[in-house]
Amino acid sequence: MQIILLGAPGAGKGTQAKRLSAKYNLLHVSTGDIFRENIKNSTDIGIIAKSFIDKGQLVPNDVTVEIVKERLEQEDCKNQGYLLDGFPRNIEQAIELDKFSKIDLVLNIGVDINKLINRITGRRVCPKCGASYHVTTLNGETLCKACKTELILRDDDNEETVTKRIEVYNKQTAPLIDYYKKQGKIATVDGNLGIDETFNQIVKILG
Ligand code: AMP
Repeated sequence: MQIILLGAPGAGKGTQAKRLSAKYNLLHVSTGDIFRENIKNSTDIGIIAKSFIDKGQLVPNDVTVEIVKERLEQEDCKNQGYLLDGFPRNIEQAIELDKFSKIDLVLNIGVDINKLINRITGRRVCPKCGASYHVTTLNGETLCKACKTELILRDDDNEETVTKRIEVYNKQTAPLIDYYKKQGKIATVDGNLGIDETFNQIVKILG
């Protein structure tokens, strides 16, 4: 099964993707994670990506489509279903994806826009295992519960960049809902609920 997780920044795509990949044995393919790994290793792609990510803009389509295509061509993706988290993010990417992947389902996680800024600026992530937390539930704890690594605030999770990312989402990514509606592939869940409730809705859809 090939699934796309669609949603605004802060909708919970990464959190749900981690749970779903564990439950359904799907590979979690996150373009944001791939870019962050490249930035960490100072690769050419990382240097290009950082200049856009820091401004809250999308990394150019040619770079982004290529890294996804390369990833999906790897042996594990040929033998196993996958979850795309953060890709596609605009119509051009979706058109390209249709050329090299057969998507079965698009899960759209809907969240009230006014909740997003608080969710993201309060987010603390583990740079090692990718676990994600919110300051309100950490109670002052600064280490990852899973691997005891010091949690960080992502460079692009500040209010100014988040505002730009939400703007980009509304303009470029939200039209994908209609794109996939027309293909009869979209299912929407309520991401305003807690992590468990949202997960349970998705599990119901997947059966
Ligand atoms: P994420 O971790 O999904 O929030 O992505 C972090 C940042 O990486 C985004 O704000 C974009 O700058 C960049 N990015 C991730 N996925 C894509 C994509 N499909 N197309 C272009 N840029 C992307």
